[in-house]
Amino acid sequence: MKIYIAGAGAMGCRFGVQLSEAGNDVTLLDNWEAHIDAIKKDGLKVVGDEEKTVHLPIMKPTEAEGEGDLIILFTKAMQLRQMLQDIKPIVGSKTRVFCLLNGLGHEDVMKEYIPATNILMGVTVWTASLKEPGVVLMQGKGAINLQAIDASQEASGREVTDILNGAGLNATYDMDVIPSIWRKACVNGTMNSGCALLDCTIGELFASESGLKVVREIIHEFVSVGLAEGVTLDEDDITNYVMEISVKAAPHYPSMHQDLVKNHRLTEIDYLNGAVSEKAKRLGISTPYCQMMTQLIHTKEDIFGIK
Ligand code: NAD
Repeated sequence: MKIYIAGAGAMGCRFGVQLSEAGNDVTLLDNWEAHIDAIKKDGLKVVGDEEKTVHLPIMKPTEAEGEGDLIILFTKAMQLRQMLQDIKPIVGSKTRVFCLLNGLGHEDVMKEYIPATNILMGVTVWTASLKEPGVVLMQGKGAINLQAIDASQEASGREVTDILNGAGLNATYDMDVIPSIWRKACVNGTMNSGCALLDCTIGELFASESGLKVVREIIHEFVSVGLAEGVTLDEDDITNYVMEISVKAAPHYPSMHQDLVKNHRLTEIDYLNGAVSEKAKRLGISTPYCQMMTQLIHTKEDIFGIK
């Protein structure tokens, strides 16, 4: 199976390694020169549960040749459009293009570039991080839920599920994946933005009574907007899910904290709380907490001079 990983940062590298070790023909596509150079020169170094070096082809998306059977998108949300534009030549009539980015609204962007019959949407709780260019930290286990957005493509979506499972990626074909995407967005929309703004761990945010009040208000706004859009969401279930994760991940700083506070990189806020507050405006729903979190994160980006 010819697989391209479009966006070979932390998650793209993890998936690339696992899929390649399962015998697939994997090529990494990325635009970060230092990362490309490091992997070309010394291979991709894996640290964490296992230590090894994996040799995978890596190139810029515009340099790729030959249609893929599967393209897995793992850019940050704000890089998605450019990546979809750049991979056009390697998307053939049978290429499945699978979006695993966190956040909301990606399906609409995908449809602007890719026929609906080729699109798979999904969500994952696998994790990874980059220690430096060419070095990926892979720890723990995860899971994936996915669905072909065109019902006629279920068999194709199930075939991709089998390929992912062949690589130990613990995938489930889901007959309605959208609620799971919203649920994960709600996890990110509470702890990522909260910890990035307050410069604290997940445990510290959730141990505060005031912090918990903010978390609950954000969940309520996500659920109100999701329900108004026809997504099946249950506020108690989502609250319990967010609370469970907050306990397991208590000592950690979430990725938005690392992006914004530690590395001074742009955040995905516009695709989390920002997406909810934009949808809410169109629906005539009030979402003051999501709107404020979005504005404050952008303020912090401005303070750090991040463009
Ligand atoms: P990432 O930041 O590691 O990689 C995304 C892109 O940014 C890649 O093109 C990468 O090369 C580039 N990049 C990374 N560090 C850079 C640097 N210092 N300078 C310049 N370019 C750099 O992103 P990720 O963590 O792999 O996430 C990809 C998507 O998956 C996002 O939507 C994210 O929310 C989602 N996601 C991440 C995790 C996780 O544990 N990391 C888990 C689930 C979902």
